[in-house]
Amino acid sequence: MIQIICSREAYVYNVYHMVKAFYPSKEVTSRVEEKASNYVTVFSEDIPEIKITEEMIKGVDKSDIKEIKYQIDCLLYHALSERTKRKLAWGILMGVRPTKLAMSELERGTSEEEFTAWYEEKLLVSHEKAKLAWRVAGREKELLDRLDMDRGYSLYVGIPFCPSVCSYCSFSSGALSEWKYYVEDYVEALKRELNAVSELLRHKILNTIYIGGGTPTTLSSARLEELLTCIDTLFQRDGLLEYTVEAGRPDSIGGEKLEVLKRHGVTRISINPQSMQQKTLDVIGRRHTVEEIYEAYRLARDIGFDNINMDIIAGLPGETAFDMEDTLKKIKSLSPDSLTVHSLAIKRASRMGQEKGPVLGDIGRMTELAAHAAEEMGMSPYYLYRQKNAAGNFENVGYAKVDKAGIYNILIMEEKQSIIACGAGASTKLVLKEQVENPANKGKKTSLIRLENVKAIDAYIGRVNEMIKRKEEWLWR
Ligand code: SF4
Repeated sequence: MIQIICSREAYVYNVYHMVKAFYPSKEVTSRVEEKASNYVTVFSEDIPEIKITEEMIKGVDKSDIKEIKYQIDCLLYHALSERTKRKLAWGILMGVRPTKLAMSELERGTSEEEFTAWYEEKLLVSHEKAKLAWRVAGREKELLDRLDMDRGYSLYVGIPFCPSVCSYCSFSSGALSEWKYYVEDYVEALKRELNAVSELLRHKILNTIYIGGGTPTTLSSARLEELLTCIDTLFQRDGLLEYTVEAGRPDSIGGEKLEVLKRHGVTRISINPQSMQQKTLDVIGRRHTVEEIYEAYRLARDIGFDNINMDIIAGLPGETAFDMEDTLKKIKSLSPDSLTVHSLAIKRASRMGQEKGPVLGDIGRMTELAAHAAEEMGMSPYYLYRQKNAAGNFENVGYAKVDKAGIYNILIMEEKQSIIACGAGASTKLVLKEQVENPANKGKKTSLIRLENVKAIDAYIGRVNEMIKRKEEWLWR
C-alpha cells in the first residue's frame, strides 16, 4: 500500500491521482496533516520515500497556492517518472476533461503552436496528446457553434434497466429479471417528471435528446412506444438537432423496437459490442453472442438508421492487442458512423472493482490500434474525456465520420449548455448566466448547478415529486 500525507487538502486530488496513475495496481491512501513538515510525503514499504519540501518550491509567495500546487505536481511527476522509468501521456493533467483547457485557449485565439508548446513544456503532456486535444477542441467548437447557447438546452432520459449487469459496470442499472415488476411504475414516474420539465421549459429550445441508461431498449416495444409518444407530445422539436437512443445491448434489440425508434424520429443509435471476442463477452457477463451484434447492426441498417455508433473498451480482462486488432477488423467490416473507444475504468461499485485486480493488456497499444482503425474508416476524433481510475490513466475518445458526431456527448463534457435529466440517477447540469451561491459548497460562487436524482429505482418511483420540486426551484431561473 502506498500512503500519501499532504499539508493541505488542496494538494490531495492531483497527488493521489498521479501516484495511482504511476502505480495502477497498488492500493493508495491519502490524508491531510496540517502540521506536516513537508508539503507532500509519499511512502510505502517497497518504494523509496518521496518528499516535496518548502525549500524545493522556488520563487513563489507562500499565499500563491495555485503556483505551489503546480510546482508540487511537476516535482512529484519527475520523481515518480524517475522511479518507474515511465511517463504519463497526459503529463500532470489529472482532471477528467483534458480538452476543456484546449477549448478555452482556442476561444482566446491562441495558435496551435503556442498551445501545444504550453501543453508539452508546462503540463508535460506528450506531443501526440497535445495535438489530439487541440484537434478535438477544434471539432467540438465547430459543432457547438451550431447550438443556441442562450435559449437552447438538452434533455436526458434515463432507463435504468439492462438484460444483465456487466462486470465492469458501476451505473445504478438493474437486471430486468430482478426489476421487471417496477417497469410500469418507473415509466409512469418518468412521464410525470418529463411533463413537469416540459412545462417549466416551454419557452426554451430543445437542441438534443439523449435516452440512455442502462439500456433503454430493454423496455418492451409497447413501453418504448408509450415513452417516445409522451416525449413527442410534450416537447417542441423545431430546434432539435439530434435524437439519440442507446440501443446498447444487442440482446435487447429486435426489428419491432427499432421500428418504434425510427417512427418517432430517432436520428442516432448506439449498438455497443464492447468487444467482438466471444470469450470476453462471456467473462464480462454480457450474455449475448458476437453473431447477435452483427444481426442487430444489419437490422438497424435495413430499417434505415444512417447514424450508428459502436462502443468498445480497451483493456477488458484477458484481452491482448491481438484481440483488439481482431475486434477492430470485425467492426470495420460493419462500417459504423462513429466509434467510441473507452479505456477500462475499474470502479469500486462494479463487480470487477470488488474482485482482485484483473490482468490488463497493453491498453496504450490497443487505443493506438483503435485510433488507426477509426482513421481508416474515415472518422476523426470529436470528443475526449478521462474517467477516474481509468486503467493506465488513458482516455476515452469518440471518433465520427463527417456530420455523424454525437453533439450531446460534447455538451456533457464542455458544460456550455444546460442538460435537464430525468429518471433514476439522472444528473441535471444547469448552466446559469450569472454566478450564484453554490448550494453544494456554501460560501463559494458557481454558474454550474448540479441536481442529482436519487439512484435507486424504487426510491425514484416513490420520490419523483421531490425530484420535480427540486427542478422547479431552479428552472424558473
Ligand atoms: S449494458 Fe451498459 S449500463 Fe447495462 S450493465 Fe452493461 S455496461 Fe452497465
